[in-house]
Amino acid sequence: MPKVEVDQNRCKACYLCISVCPKKCLGKSSTISKKGYFTAVQERPQDCIGCKMCYVMCPDVAITVLKD
Ligand code: SF4
Ligand code: SF4
Repeated sequence: MPKVEVDQNRCKACYLCISVCPKKCLGKSSTISKKGYFTAVQERPQDCIGCKMCYVMCPDVAITVLKD
């Protein structure tokens, strides 16, 4: 299944990626990053279809979608 990585040094917790994901597989982290944000995380990787909408939407280029 596709893996979505969120760069902890880039994510500003705007959550645009969460709102755009058609499969609702992204969520908010329960832990705070070094930059002070509850970053986005891939909560349900089993639902990810690798469409890269999250990657396209992210204004901070924090997302990488890795296909398996
Ligand atoms: S769109 Fe980018 S900056 Fe915004 S929450 Fe998602 S990963 Fe973080
Ligand atoms: S690649 Fe598509 S399905 Fe997977 S997390 Fe990003 S927006 Fe959601």
